Amino acid sequence: MPEGHTIHRLAARHRAFFAGRAVQVASPQGRFAAGAARLDGLTLLDTEAYGKHLLHHFEGGATLHVHLGLYGKFADGEPPVPAPVGQVRMRMADERHWLELRGPTACEVLDPGLVAALRARLGQDPLRDDADPRIAYARIAAATRPLFALLMDQSIVAGCGLIYANEVLFRAGLSPTTPGSAIGAQRWDELWNDLRALMKEGVVQGRIDTVHTVHTPEAMRRAPRVDRHGGEVYVYRRPGQPCLVCGTAIARGPLAGRNLYWCPCCQASGDV
Ligand SMILES: [Zn+2]
Repeated sequence: MPEGHTIHRLAARHRAFFAGRAVQVASPQGRFAAGAARLDGLTLLDTEAYGKHLLHHFEGGATLHVHLGLYGKFADGEPPVPAPVGQVRMRMADERHWLELRGPTACEVLDPGLVAALRARLGQDPLRDDADPRIAYARIAAATRPLFALLMDQSIVAGCGLIYANEVLFRAGLSPTTPGSAIGAQRWDELWNDLRALMKEGVVQGRIDTVHTVHTPEAMRRAPRVDRHGGEVYVYRRPGQPCLVCGTAIARGPLAGRNLYWCPCCQASGDV
């Protein structure tokens, strides 16, 4: 599933395409026909990302809400608009650009009250300037659940997905099963700041790289990682491979229904 940095990149891209412009909106597949009819011809005022949620705000107060989920994908381009191929849930276009959405978990029009409700149930997004890590910390410090599960909980930290959660815990040298309540405020601040920096880099690069300069392929004279998720990482999808820091085989195990990866040596300690 795309993590928050991808959604923030999409928000910026769609803003550059359409903000301040009247757009045609349609649903070639038909499943979003009523919503598309409501937005068709309106001016898109602005876009924003909130965690893994993408919002397009239109004149008159209507907001298009998209959550890509596991299978959702955007495509875009310049005219001419291609004939619809497959299940195009939503198409947006003006005379300069077109945009297509396939397979999202959510594609709906929300009124301001529902947008406010959506925001209220989401946690702090490290990529947003209005994020307050102390609000997230209040939840974490009160929780006995493992830190990994808390980082993945979108009502606590919005936009952090599997790769960032695994990697930021490795970089902090924290055992992923450390309970939230064992994390001090200062340790949380460090974790948050590291996560924020990694995610901001992800927005710029369009991929997730989490290794320090001394652990890049060039510095270590090793082959670059080959993985469809791209990026140089310490533990994510590297089970059985040697830890880039200590050489111990990376471990994998299920936690909170998700795949957890960690170095049993570098992250042995729950000490905080
Ligand atoms: Zn290690």
